[in-house]
Amino acid sequence: MNKLNRRNFLKTTAVAGSGLLIARFSHAQEIVTEDDGTAVAMGYAADHSTVDTAKWTKKAGPDGAKQQCTTCTLYQKIDDEYGLCPIFAGKRVHASGWCNGWVA
Ligand code: SF4
Repeated sequence: MNKLNRRNFLKTTAVAGSGLLIARFSHAQEIVTEDDGTAVAMGYAADHSTVDTAKWTKKAGPDGAKQQCTTCTLYQKIDDEYGLCPIFAGKRVHASGWCNGWVA
């Protein structure tokens, strides 16, 4: 391997490795549960369709029906099932989840 090829190999390996580390770290994070203190305060549900819309009126109606983590500005997708949310820092939320912090 010549010097240029080795440099490119090392760069590619470093970038790929850091990507894997981020992915592994994200998957190692705890999943938010509905009995979590912040989750209770924010009305978080792992399944947005189960939210009590009489209590959490923001989620009511046709516009509310479209609200879930994947449509929230704060959602940072990890994979098809989970993502990160700054309201639940250090934990994963369900892609199909919802909380009263939902932002268009
Ligand atoms: S703020 Fe948005 S991404 Fe975070 S839990 Fe609530 S709905 Fe989901």
